[in-house]
Amino acid sequence: MKTDDVIVKKSKTHGKGIFAVRDFKKDEIVLHLDFTHTLSKEVFKKLSKRNKMRVSFINNKYIAMQSPESYMNHSCEANTLVKDFNDIAIVNIKKGEEITTNYFRDVCGLNFICKCKSKNCKKIIKI
Ligand SMILES: [Zn+2]
Repeated sequence: MKTDDVIVKKSKTHGKGIFAVRDFKKDEIVLHLDFTHTLSKEVFKKLSKRNKMRVSFINNKYIAMQSPESYMNHSCEANTLVKDFNDIAIVNIKKGEEITTNYFRDVCGLNFICKCKSKNCKKIIKI
C-alpha cells in the first residue's frame, strides 16, 4: 500500500484524520485501500459503535479498514470517492487539506452525528 502521499494527524472535525502531503488532481488515486480484512456479519454486529465506524460495507462484504484509511473522516462535501478498491479525488485537493469521503455510500447500519461543518452538512447521517 502506498501511504507516502498522505499523513494521519489531528483533525479539526473528528479526532484524527488523513491529510494530503502533496496536491492531488481530480480523478487521481489518493489511497489504495486494503480490503483484505473481511468480517462476518456476526462479528460485525458484536463490534462497538466506534469500531463499526472503521468497517465499510462494500460488494456485500464487511471490511475492516486498515491504517491509514481507517482514519478517513466523513464529510457531506467529501473530496474523495471509493471506487474499485481505491480512494479517488473527486475535486482538486491541495497539499495540507484533509482527505474525506462520504460514508453514506459504504458504511452499513450506523447513524452518526456529522461535524464536517460543510454548507450542505446533513448533521445526522442515517445509513
Ligand atoms: Zn456533514
